[in-house]
Amino acid sequence: MTSPLIGNPRALAAIQRALASGSPPHAWLFAGPGGVGKASLARWLAQAVNCVATPGGTSAEPCGECAQCTRIARGIHADVVTVTIPPPEDGVQHKDISVEQVREIEQAVALAPFEGRTRVAIIDPADAMSTGAQNAFLKTLEEPPPNAVFVLIANREDALLPTVRSRCRLVDFGLVAAGEIETALRERGTDDDQARLLSRLAEGRPERALALAADAKRLEKRRELLEEASALGGMPMADLMDLTERMARQFREKREAVFDRLSAWLSWWRDVLLVQSGAGDGIANVDLTEVLQLDADRYERADVIAFVQSLTKCRERLEANVQARIALDATLVMAPRAAARAR
Ligand SMILES: [Zn+2]
Repeated sequence: MTSPLIGNPRALAAIQRALASGSPPHAWLFAGPGGVGKASLARWLAQAVNCVATPGGTSAEPCGECAQCTRIARGIHADVVTVTIPPPEDGVQHKDISVEQVREIEQAVALAPFEGRTRVAIIDPADAMSTGAQNAFLKTLEEPPPNAVFVLIANREDALLPTVRSRCRLVDFGLVAAGEIETALRERGTDDDQARLLSRLAEGRPERALALAADAKRLEKRRELLEEASALGGMPMADLMDLTERMARQFREKREAVFDRLSAWLSWWRDVLLVQSGAGDGIANVDLTEVLQLDADRYERADVIAFVQSLTKCRERLEANVQARIALDATLVMAPRAAARAR
């Protein structure tokens, strides 16, 4: 079974080499941006160290078909667990992976494997482990139980204690070129136009492209957000202020929806700027080139630049928990005004 990874061939090769060496590490750290396939590859690794197609040994290429491989793929293998931030309970939002959760993993991996050859604990996101949790985990990393493998998945490896990092085999993942994603999508049966579009919308994150390919509703939603983005240009000030008020409310209830919106807006206005700069080849929204061209003709380039910068800043400020209303007001007043361009 080939790996589920799109791109990042060096990361895959490093893992396969270690597996083939006969003494693979007990602890791995998969580090890099979200959406590039680190979690899928962790499950693939769990298959490799449990697959029965190569009896007695660890396989650098799990078969994907034996009972071990299929149970891991379905997420029902007793020896493969993923530890993550717990879902909200009674309205309380958890922010990290706790010391108690780490203790539970330790107890689980101390036992002999139940149905497979190796117990695998995937910690995702590992950078959400509290300092206490990391210190507790350190002891296990120093004296790993036999037949146990840990995979730590992190967007930011520097959020982990150096003592934890140094005990893991680091595998670095990077963003993937659009061309590589496009080819992989075509090989998976996506038609040419769609593959070209999705590979550009993915912004280097193949899993984003796969999610869009699997769910037509997401593409529809994107279309709506882009129409909204375009409509911001020349929108009367009163309407803009109404919009910021609604979004500030949305931010309190569903932060992610606001970030999705800002990302779509940013992708639109960045594309407008690319068209204005004569760099239309690099645009993301390749299915909407005609509308992009209209906006590119309609607004002053300096205004578009200012708005793109303002949207970028807004996202940063919201991530830093600046009051949403203030950040959004300051951004939307920067939306380009209509018909400024002299002909
Ligand atoms: Zn197998």
